[in-house]
Amino acid sequence: MPPIVIVGSGLAGYTLLKEIRKCDTTTPVTLVTADNGAFYSKPNLSNALTAGKTAAALASASAEKMAAEQNATILTHTRVTAIDTQGQRIRIDSGELDYSKLVLALGADPIPHGLSGEGAAGVLAVNDLADYVAFRNAIDGKKRIAVLGGGLIGCEFANDLAHAGFAVDVVHLGGWPLERLLPVEAGQRLADSLAALGVNWHFGRTAKSVEQTTDGYQVALDNDEKIAADVVLSAIGLRPRTQLAQAGGIPVGRGIQTDRLLETGAANVYAMGDCAEVEGLNLPYVQPLMVQARALAGTLAGTPTPVIYPAMPVMVKTPAHPVAVLPPKIGAAGGWKVECSDTGVCALHTDEAGRLQGFALTGTETGRRNALAKEVAT
Ligand code: FAD
Repeated sequence: MPPIVIVGSGLAGYTLLKEIRKCDTTTPVTLVTADNGAFYSKPNLSNALTAGKTAAALASASAEKMAAEQNATILTHTRVTAIDTQGQRIRIDSGELDYSKLVLALGADPIPHGLSGEGAAGVLAVNDLADYVAFRNAIDGKKRIAVLGGGLIGCEFANDLAHAGFAVDVVHLGGWPLERLLPVEAGQRLADSLAALGVNWHFGRTAKSVEQTTDGYQVALDNDEKIAADVVLSAIGLRPRTQLAQAGGIPVGRGIQTDRLLETGAANVYAMGDCAEVEGLNLPYVQPLMVQARALAGTLAGTPTPVIYPAMPVMVKTPAHPVAVLPPKIGAAGGWKVECSDTGVCALHTDEAGRLQGFALTGTETGRRNALAKEVAT
């Protein structure tokens, strides 16, 4: 019997491997990964300076250690280049590999920044440990960092860098940070707190080009304002890795489409984590992939277990002014009711009947997130 094959050694792939091993210590499992397979927690990349961690310290176990601990075969620096869903095999750099079940935990790619200029190739993005090593090397001994994008990842890096003493400019198309998740009052409070830490905001703007200068880069905005920077970090978003599945004839939308059992349109092929679109929902956060891993381990062990998400608030790691958000479902009727105090903002999204559908909390109000999450109808 061929092994269960997991593709990807991010939190999705490794959490699934650990969940499988909790109930089944013997079924052969092979994990294939394009990177070095080191285990790390990706959320730590955007607060490692504040935590006093070097890039190397973020990897808590090597692939060899994970393979020994989880009784699995781990093929590192090995890219899957094709899936034959009929023959139940994948193509890898060194040949072919049969599978009994295949789990795609491929993650997401940074959205290309599309900037012009001779400095554009030097713009960095941080989406894995190797990127982070490059980023830490680039900022070493430098002072001025331009961050493109004021979403979750951009805000977290801005906070981390400003706290560590860097001069930070953030260029953001929206009128306030995280504008798709937060009502204006909550976003403005976050913006003000980061500004108090030294972050220089450029709202309603996009970067057009990046030129190299004698001492770094010059970022030109769409209003022709120029920002001088030593390092430019793009944090404009991620998009699920779907190409491999699509080329194998597996249906994709925003992500690789699955049902609640995480099964794709191809028999015995599953998807989870940032690459997956589970019944129309792509949730690129840690808690959903943990729920998926537990359910899928049950399904792979022979007990079909649908994914049922609890209410899952997302914490934005901005210690200057923390944020907890549980967005209402897309298209939800109703509206925000916002209360502001000196120490935080509490915004509740309710429907016409007054039922809580989501919330955005900042500052001291974030302490209410678990209690409120229990009230939200899932
Ligand atoms: P990834 O970690 O991207 O792993 C994908 C794996 O697939 C990699 O090992 C890659 O090498 C492999 N791979 C891809 N293609 C192939 C191929 N063809 N062949 C072989 N291997 C392949 N979420 C939160 O909930 N809270 C937070 O505070 C938070 N902070 C974040 C901070 C940052 C800076 C970032 C970038 C994300 C953050 N997130 C946070 C999101 C969260 O980290 C992700 O949802 C999660 O780590 C995704 O894990 P994954 O395993 O799906 O993807």
